[in-house]
Amino acid sequence: MSEFHGLAALVTGGASGIGAATAALLHQRGAQVAVLDRHPEGAPAQALAVPCDVTDPEAVDQAVATVAGHFGGLDVVINNAGIGASGDVSENTDEEWRRVLEVNVIGIARVTRAALPHLRRSQHAVVVNTCSVVAFVGVRSRALYSASKGAVAALTFAMAADHVGDGIRVNAVAPGTVDTPWVERLLEASADPDATAAALRARQPHGRLVTAEEVAHAIASLASPAAASTTGAVLRVDGGMTSLRV
Ligand code: NAD
Repeated sequence: MSEFHGLAALVTGGASGIGAATAALLHQRGAQVAVLDRHPEGAPAQALAVPCDVTDPEAVDQAVATVAGHFGGLDVVINNAGIGASGDVSENTDEEWRRVLEVNVIGIARVTRAALPHLRRSQHAVVVNTCSVVAFVGVRSRALYSASKGAVAALTFAMAADHVGDGIRVNAVAPGTVDTPWVERLLEASADPDATAAALRARQPHGRLVTAEEVAHAIASLASPAAASTTGAVLRVDGGMTSLRV
């Protein structure tokens, strides 16, 4: 497929899980792809891997300039880097609140701000943010993480409104629980990994975890030039978790 032929894409957090699957799929569909990650070793071999922590403003500016310089422009920005947190509202320190919001929310603002001048010059400019079901449904022990993803949803709508006149589309995906190294770590830390895994599968009506490739397909469909009228959309990839009662 050459849907993305001639387009340059950047994927943050593209060295693992959803981001790595997305970087690989965009490349497969014809894009030139760069990965910005604080541990870029796991980036797909076909991607330009750029070490970058999205909490560092200078590193972000430099990394985005490197990518745009290397490809001669930038058309597609996938803001996917994210970290988790567990606990109810009393269980995270202020430092943990600052850290998670720094990565999950301000990181998106920082990367997009650096990319905007390049996106404004593109004929197919698009931003896709990785949100989560927890922006739309309350689940236990995810207060801080849910607050960060609620902010991602709101930021997606606001950015879409601000930049529709520039010809830049802004959308998001909201995955349910996805089978990635992130969830493997979560299970390893749990007292009863088998029971936790069974509960995670059971809360998604299709009875299993979402795959990283399924989320990548949703991201690619929102990013595709064929979706030129889709902006301000949040596409749920959750096996029905937020919409169905079965
Ligand atoms: P993952 O841990 O497998 O991958 C995350 C990647 O982000 C890693 O490569 C990591 O190095 C990178 N990263 C983290 N902090 C960074 C920083 N400060 N700067 C640059 N890179 C950084 O996780 P994943 O499951 O693939 O999650 C990707 C995104 O999907 C996250 O935004 C997460 O919130 C979201 N998400 C995940 C799930 C899930 O169940 N796995 C569900 C909904 C949403």
